[in-house]
Amino acid sequence: LVIPDFPSFTADITGIYQNLLDDRRGAVADYIPQLKRVPPDQFAVAVCTVDGQRFSIGDAGVGFCVQSVCKPINYSLTLEEHGAEVVHRHVGREPSGRGFNELSVNGDGLPHNPMINSGAIMSCSLIKPDLAVADRFDYVADTWRALSGGSPVGFNNAVYLSERQTADRNFALGYFMREHGAFPAGTDLIETLEFYFQCCSIELDAGGLASVAATLANGGMMPLTSDQVFSTESVQKCLSLMSSCGMYDYSGEFAFTIGLPAKSGVSGALMLVIPQVMGIAIWSPRLDALGNSVRGIEFCRQLVEKYNFHIYDSL
Ligand code: GLN
Repeated sequence: LVIPDFPSFTADITGIYQNLLDDRRGAVADYIPQLKRVPPDQFAVAVCTVDGQRFSIGDAGVGFCVQSVCKPINYSLTLEEHGAEVVHRHVGREPSGRGFNELSVNGDGLPHNPMINSGAIMSCSLIKPDLAVADRFDYVADTWRALSGGSPVGFNNAVYLSERQTADRNFALGYFMREHGAFPAGTDLIETLEFYFQCCSIELDAGGLASVAATLANGGMMPLTSDQVFSTESVQKCLSLMSSCGMYDYSGEFAFTIGLPAKSGVSGALMLVIPQVMGIAIWSPRLDALGNSVRGIEFCRQLVEKYNFHIYDSL
C-alpha cells in the first residue's frame, strides 16, 4: 500500500480540516452572479490514493462547478488529439505572471499557457472541432466520468447562463487572440467561447474530483477501474504546466512552498496531485485576492508541513 497506515493519515487530514473550519478569510467570487450565491462556509476535503484507498470529510457530497479546474483536463484532451507539437503552435507553456483573465498574449501572439483563460479558450477550439457542439460537450463530460471512475458528473446550467451573460472579458480575450491569428483555421469563436463556459460549468463533488486527481497522480490510469484515460505522456506534460502555471499568479509561490502540481478554480475548488501517491480535492468557496481558495491553499500548506510531499523533500 502506498499509504500503509491509512487510518492515521486520515486522522491527520481530519485534524487539518478541523484547524481550518474557523478560517473565514476571503470572499466568494462575485463576477459570475450565480457563483456569488453559493453558501461560503462550505468545506470539503477528499483523498484517493493511486491504489484506490479513499477518504472524505465535510461537505464532500455537495456538487460544485469545476471552473478553471477544467483547464488541465481540456489541455490533456488536446494533447491526446493532436500531440504537443501541434497544440503548442496555438498556446505557449510559460507562466504569464499575470491574473488569470488578463488581456494579454505572448510575444508570438499566443496565449501564455493553457492554465489561464486565454489558453483554456484555445484548448476548447482544439477539442474535436469537427463534431457537433452537443457531441463535443458529451466527449468532455464523458472524459470527466472516466477520470473520476464513474462518479456523478453534472452540468450547472444556471452557472453556465450566468457566466455567458457576464463574459465580456472572455469575449475580449477571444477577439484579441483572433486578431493575432492565434486560433486554428476555421474556428468559430462564439461556439468556442460557449464551449469553454460549458466546460467550466461541469459539476462534481469533492470525492469525484479527488478521483480525477488520483488518475493524474497515477499517470492517466484510473486507479479504481484501471482504465487508461490519458496517456502517461500527456499527463506528464499536463502536470508540468500545473506545477508552473496552475495556481494563477500564485503559481511560483505555490511551487516554492508546496512543491506539487495543482489547479484551482473560482468556485473554490482545488485539485492537488501527489504523483505516484494520491490525488486530493479541497473545496471551499472563499477566495483570496488572486482567486485561490483560502482554505485550499492553507490545507496544502499544513499538509506538506506534516508530510514530506514537496517534490524536493526527498533530497
Ligand atoms: N469560468 C471562469 C472564467 O472564465 C473560470 C476562471 C477561473 O476559475 N479562474 O472567468
